[in-house]
Amino acid sequence: MRIDVFTLVPNAFEWLRERRPVAAVLGNELELRVFNYRETTPLGAGQVDDQPYGGGPGMVLRVDVVAAALDTAYGGALEHRIVALSPGGRQLDQPLVEELADEPALTLLSARFEGFDQRILDHLCTDVVSIGPYVLSGGEIPALALIDSVVRRLPGALSEGSVEAESFSDAFEGGLEHPHYTRPADFRGWRVPEILLSGDHRRIEQWRLGHVRSVQ
Ligand code: SAH
Repeated sequence: MRIDVFTLVPNAFEWLRERRPVAAVLGNELELRVFNYRETTPLGAGQVDDQPYGGGPGMVLRVDVVAAALDTAYGGALEHRIVALSPGGRQLDQPLVEELADEPALTLLSARFEGFDQRILDHLCTDVVSIGPYVLSGGEIPALALIDSVVRRLPGALSEGSVEAESFSDAFEGGLEHPHYTRPADFRGWRVPEILLSGDHRRIEQWRLGHVRSVQ
């Protein structure tokens, strides 16, 4: 899969390359490219934004700037999903993550300031996605969340064995995993459930299934 991110803060994506799940699949299952709108802007002095028509505070990411960035990267041939990150979009959930993880290529558009010129959302992208009903200062954190959740679904991204035993997998009937405990078995009198120390794998399995949690 190829993921391209368009942003004004390219270094926000640097650490991602060094950590699982991205680090585990970079160069084989995953190609990750980061583009800075300022490098392809048709405007002078690296300008990318402008004042809103009708007045008001803040600056708006210009449609011609985003179009130029996409044209430079793809030369007009857009055959894959272009996802703009915006608080007004379809909320990211695990079914959408799975859907996006099946795509051969994804482009993520991130904005800052007051956000995108509406024509970017109407004409230049195929999807508008929100990571939740709250407003952040930029699309970088949403893009990181989307990339992390999608890349976890790629073969080899997670350590062996954890794929089948993941939250939302069939093993947990589409719910969140049971709680986990590790040593010490007793800390300040807070004891690990006895059953998990019993060595009785059948009962442990039942306990785990009984403690699958649903998403709020
Ligand atoms: N003035 C706008 C807020 C823009 S926030 C408004 O009130 O709606 C700036 C940018 O951050 C957005 O364009 C988007 O790219 C990103 N962003 C903020 N919150 C987000 C969220 N919940 N999900 C996805 N992107 C978000």
